[in-house]
Amino acid sequence: MEFEKKGILIVVSAPSGSGKGTVLSHLTEDREHFALSVSLTTRKPRTGEIDGIHYFFVSKEDFLKEIENGNMLEYAEYCGNYYGTPKDRVDELLSNGINVILEIETVGAMKIKKLCPDAIFIMILPPSFSALEKRLRSRGTNSEEDIQKRLETAVKELSCIEMYDYVVINRDGKSKEAADTITGIAMAEKCRVKRNPELISDFYDAKPDNEK
Ligand code: 5GP
Repeated sequence: MEFEKKGILIVVSAPSGSGKGTVLSHLTEDREHFALSVSLTTRKPRTGEIDGIHYFFVSKEDFLKEIENGNMLEYAEYCGNYYGTPKDRVDELLSNGINVILEIETVGAMKIKKLCPDAIFIMILPPSFSALEKRLRSRGTNSEEDIQKRLETAVKELSCIEMYDYVVINRDGKSKEAADTITGIAMAEKCRVKRNPELISDFYDAKPDNEK
């Protein structure tokens, strides 16, 4: 008897600067169970970001072409740039039993909520709003105007918390703990009775382990 074989679509949102990247990097170390969907974006790469790993960095023209060709699961505009999830890779990973993480903002998350009723929704937050501002400033890669924009956007994102199933706090220096909490959430979701409609028939049919 085995639990649901298909992977779970896990939508993770977090205000920019909440440290979600570090939290999610712990999760994706476990490649057998988790994969992070790599989005397309029209924003310019930040220092250290690699094309194809952190994002696929594309022109606005190419981004719009992908939408037109029906290749995007969802997309949204955020702080003046486009971001979107390519569809094919997500479908392939889910069918292979891998839990796929979409690290997306709230507008895209709402679209997924309508499209994929089985997805789970997690919001990662820093311990407080002032901690968020401090983290954004300590990055040193964003202009003052960009920081203000991201703080305003964070307020809007927080107002969407009701549509999320879980909230995970990313405390200073405790990103691994936050990642472990998300692993726990995914494990619990796999055990949901409604995700395992064949469970009882499999239970009756299954042979004892020593007879397989
Ligand atoms: P950043 O510029 O800080 O990398 O990302 C800005 C925002 O865009 C973040 O909230 C991030 O979660 C979101 N984002 C990244 N990829 C996608 C995507 O494919 N779709 C949507 N809707 N949002 C995304």
